[in-house]
Amino acid sequence: MIGRFAMAFLLSTSTLLAQSNPNPAQQERPSEKPKPAVPGSPVAPPPKVAEEPAKPAPAKEAPLSELPYTPSLDLSALDRSVDPCTDFYTYTCGGWMAKNPIPPDQASWDIYGKLAQENQQFLWGILEDAARPAADRIPTQQKVGDYFAACMDVAEIEKLGAAPLRPLLAEIAALKSSRDLAAFLAQEHLRVYGSGFLFGFGSQQDFGDATQVIASAGAGGLGLPDRDYYTKTDAKSKEIRSKYLDHVARMMELIGESKTEASRDARAVMKIETALAEASLTRVERRDPYKLFHKMTPAQLKALSPSFDWTRYLAGGDLGSIGTLNVSEPAFFKKMDSEIRLIELPRWKTYLRWHAVHSRAPYLASAFVTEDFNFFRKTLRGVAEQPPRWKTCVRLVDRDLGEALGQEFVRRTFTPETKQKTVEMTQRVERAMENEVKTLGWMTDATKARAIEKLHAIANKVGYPDRWRDYSSIEIQRNDFYGDVTRATVFESRRQLLKIGKPVDRGEWGMTPPTVNAYYDPQLNDINFPAGVLQPPLYDPKMDDAPNYGNTGSTIGHELTHAFDDEGRKFDAKGDLKDWWTPEDAKSFEERVNCVRDQYAQYTIVDDIKINSKLTSGEDVADLGGTLLAYIAWKDAVSGADLEKRDGFSPDQRFFIGFAQWACQNQRPENLRANAITNPHSPDKYRVNGIVSNLPEFAKAFECKETQPMVRAKPCRVW
Ligand SMILES: [Zn+2]
Repeated sequence: MIGRFAMAFLLSTSTLLAQSNPNPAQQERPSEKPKPAVPGSPVAPPPKVAEEPAKPAPAKEAPLSELPYTPSLDLSALDRSVDPCTDFYTYTCGGWMAKNPIPPDQASWDIYGKLAQENQQFLWGILEDAARPAADRIPTQQKVGDYFAACMDVAEIEKLGAAPLRPLLAEIAALKSSRDLAAFLAQEHLRVYGSGFLFGFGSQQDFGDATQVIASAGAGGLGLPDRDYYTKTDAKSKEIRSKYLDHVARMMELIGESKTEASRDARAVMKIETALAEASLTRVERRDPYKLFHKMTPAQLKALSPSFDWTRYLAGGDLGSIGTLNVSEPAFFKKMDSEIRLIELPRWKTYLRWHAVHSRAPYLASAFVTEDFNFFRKTLRGVAEQPPRWKTCVRLVDRDLGEALGQEFVRRTFTPETKQKTVEMTQRVERAMENEVKTLGWMTDATKARAIEKLHAIANKVGYPDRWRDYSSIEIQRNDFYGDVTRATVFESRRQLLKIGKPVDRGEWGMTPPTVNAYYDPQLNDINFPAGVLQPPLYDPKMDDAPNYGNTGSTIGHELTHAFDDEGRKFDAKGDLKDWWTPEDAKSFEERVNCVRDQYAQYTIVDDIKINSKLTSGEDVADLGGTLLAYIAWKDAVSGADLEKRDGFSPDQRFFIGFAQWACQNQRPENLRANAITNPHSPDKYRVNGIVSNLPEFAKAFECKETQPMVRAKPCRVW
């Protein structure tokens, strides 16, 4: 889940990587699916963290006019001093890790992140061109160009200081009673991404009828990235809470409060947020869609939280006529109601002031940007330096006008040949899965038939959407960055709310084309591979099939198996939440998933923190199944061909090296710790070693002995 909470998707969509916060200052990854529902984030990492460079590298970043080439099988990334049967991850990635220290503005650094940065530099060049006020700019170029120019105009932004925030603070100051919260939030939820203001409200596909969009209300109200930050009692968590209090206080000082007021206000904020956190489901609980599905009438919602004026709230969002909505966490709204009764108006105003400045900090003068960075990136993630301004601005254009910018990206980078080849690869992996399902020993024929029906119904989306989003109604002004962000956000919020009561648009994408990531959406039942993830060193048109199937083929298989993981399997071919498994098959499936859970629960993330494998098992099982399916599909693609050794490696060895080299990564320990809470993916080391050690095909390829670490005595297998 990421993002645009106002338009919440109540179920996290399964991505290949992490997901992030829409605030670029807090973003874990440049790429994320702008759909979800809860404050969230994630990613993962290896043991041998390369040394930081003694000095930051000189500023060598410049706009790119073409994307650099790195092969998808990189011999220089290997560390041949390591036995592949002892630690395959370090064998394949050790060289890369030594050569690629974490840049000072990153929480982690990996193949995906590096490619994402190259894409950003390429987009930077496009945006600099578009920002020149030439008469022949087409309307989309004017919008992305002027938005970028406004964002880059730091002199103007600095001059304004906190001024753009004043009207919002005045609105909050003018509230006369707790009942007024509703009218205020109806407007504020349109103007802001995320669910930070008390709760999230938006639209979602109906879990019960995947053809329809309904309104949805979800838990929220937090400033920290997860409810666990408020509830954990270990020393590190207490330390983080204490630093969060300091951060909130400093932000309040930046909007003019005295030290004493600010520190009192920070405690008031913590009290409210803690109460909301305690009433929120955990990430593991949220993996069960049935726990998030409570369709109600507005009258039932009013009965659940009578102290909140839902009539005014819904009218404020032009939603007065909705007949039904999904309340994902009823217990949360009950708790919210009691908080509204208990807490006095001045404390609510404090809480709203904090979220006002917190949500807008990235768009204000440097004092706000820096304070926000210092807590959310430096303290929580270990990042040493702020990103250069161009990077922040490219990310924001991608977030707010992503399909306008994406058209330019696709036109320049994504050839029809690559599209055709990757579509073919996708179909081949799907055929491999169909054959596998047919021969599975543990699944009955009845369930197999339904599984194959679902598999056939999966839509393959490759590269970019068939129809581009129309941004023509957003007004973008070259000299009004704060206003541009607000208008773009309101546009997106309204776009989401306008879907309510209408049939689902199955052509929509949840990631922009330059994004280096991929996802499966259980309700649309589609797999999505943006153009950004289908380029070297991931998909490499210059390479042969072995590394390409190992790398991109495994990604395709990964997304495909999400349709059948602990979350995805609860949805049928149409995307309805419906149990199509026989009880015995469901039991057999869970037993096999438990094998993977037990395996990953043994792995250490950092210090004494182990993987929470109840959170990660969906991704771990997708990694395992996806790699095996890619291997089978590759064998099918090259059947009859006489493949030779290359660079001393057999074709099978090259498949597995190609597979592992998507994951080369260095991570900061702070980031590992944060990911342990928020990321449904295991650290990349285990996303490689945990997989190959389950595959006899790997052991055979590298002639590993049964007693070696990369050969598990009792391998897990699901698909
Ligand atoms: Zn995934």
